[in-house]
Amino acid sequence: DAFIVKVSAAKALNAFIVETPEHALAAAKEADTARAAGETLKPLAGVPIGMKDLFCTKGVQTTAASHMLEGFKPVYESTVSQKLWDAGAGMLGKLNLDQFAMGSSNETSYFGNVISPWRRKDGGNAPLAPGGSSGGSSAAISARLVPAATGTDTGGSIRQPAAFTGISGIKPTYGRCSRWGVVAFASSLDQAGPMARDVRDCAIMLEAMAGFDAKDATSLKLDVPKWEQGLNPDLRGKKVGIPKEYRVEGMPTEIEALWQQGIDWLKDAGAEIVEVSLPHTKYALPAYYIIAPAEASSNLARYDGVRYGQRDLPDGANLQEMYAATRAAGFGPEVQRRILIGTYVLSAGFYDAYYTQAQKVRTLIARDFERAWLQCDLLLTPTAPSAAFALGEKSADPLAMYLNDVFTVPSSLAGIPAMSVPGGLDKDGLPLGLQIIGKPLDEQGVLNASLALE
Ligand code: GLN
Repeated sequence: DAFIVKVSAAKALNAFIVETPEHALAAAKEADTARAAGETLKPLAGVPIGMKDLFCTKGVQTTAASHMLEGFKPVYESTVSQKLWDAGAGMLGKLNLDQFAMGSSNETSYFGNVISPWRRKDGGNAPLAPGGSSGGSSAAISARLVPAATGTDTGGSIRQPAAFTGISGIKPTYGRCSRWGVVAFASSLDQAGPMARDVRDCAIMLEAMAGFDAKDATSLKLDVPKWEQGLNPDLRGKKVGIPKEYRVEGMPTEIEALWQQGIDWLKDAGAEIVEVSLPHTKYALPAYYIIAPAEASSNLARYDGVRYGQRDLPDGANLQEMYAATRAAGFGPEVQRRILIGTYVLSAGFYDAYYTQAQKVRTLIARDFERAWLQCDLLLTPTAPSAAFALGEKSADPLAMYLNDVFTVPSSLAGIPAMSVPGGLDKDGLPLGLQIIGKPLDEQGVLNASLALE
């Protein structure tokens, strides 16, 4: 009940697109009944969570924060959300995000930007970005409207918003969480994961969300480890690599200091620190911004005004004109930009020069990580090159916005697990995040090192 009251009182943050108090209450009642009957409680019995509005929820509007899907009520439940309900959780509502998960600030949402609950110490009251695309999730957790939420991460959308708002979030290995019923952005990169106040809560959530699903062709056929039970912040015998190429030019000294602080914390926990090289790092961002739009242009072709969502049918329009009118009205500017870039790099004349090239770069980046694992078990980096920026500060300049993803995109391209945890505050009193990157399937290692940083 307390959470339901808080959610409806916090309208100013615009974190929720839809509120579903009845769903959360039903889960709470079920937990109460089980408790009264002396039954063993489910792992998330009665826990009210937020659901990023990219997960299809049966009978509950699912928009991907777009006009295109406004009013769309799926007749099915995504695998990940179903698993959370099976674990006893209830839903407080659907959380705002960047439109189709494209963005780093939550400003591309058709339903308006989310406002971070954080403010600069001496910066007046200028509203700050909660990060993106999972900005509704990060804002709602850091404002304590929900104890935990789902996120999705294609190039950093769990980790960067977690860093901006002083919370934790993990992107597991690609294939750990089913993509079934998650509105697709870039299918070879999209991964669901949890966001929560701390590492332990993330571990509990991830255990509920992960697992093989025959309905997702890239789902990993593996048992879900007992990550929570395995939590251990003792890093003796572990080697943590510091990738030298992540010392990007113009990195604020505060981020440098944060990174050094992280190194010291890991040493205190018993880890040995080694310098490693990931030589192709600087090509990750350009490769990502070819591959992700290419896949997006293909995935978003389904919104044609016939099969899903909105239809715009001007008087006397033919089929082509109906498509054009629907897509012009249904997609916001950032989504249209991605579709145009995507169709361009996939077009016959340019495919080899851009798309094929980007795929080769992706392989080189994955190999960089494989080589690094010969020298170390985990990597430590900052999550983002800055603290949260003001709303509007970067929205007119897509390139400046894309640069924010510089530390999160390489591990997405390689499909490996990575987690952001709070590392401290900058001089303005804003949270900064530290990122732990791990070997494929080593979520336990990532969680443990993150716990040591907590
Ligand atoms: N900011 C990145 C983008 O706009 C990542 C988004 C995401 O991970 N969904 O593509």
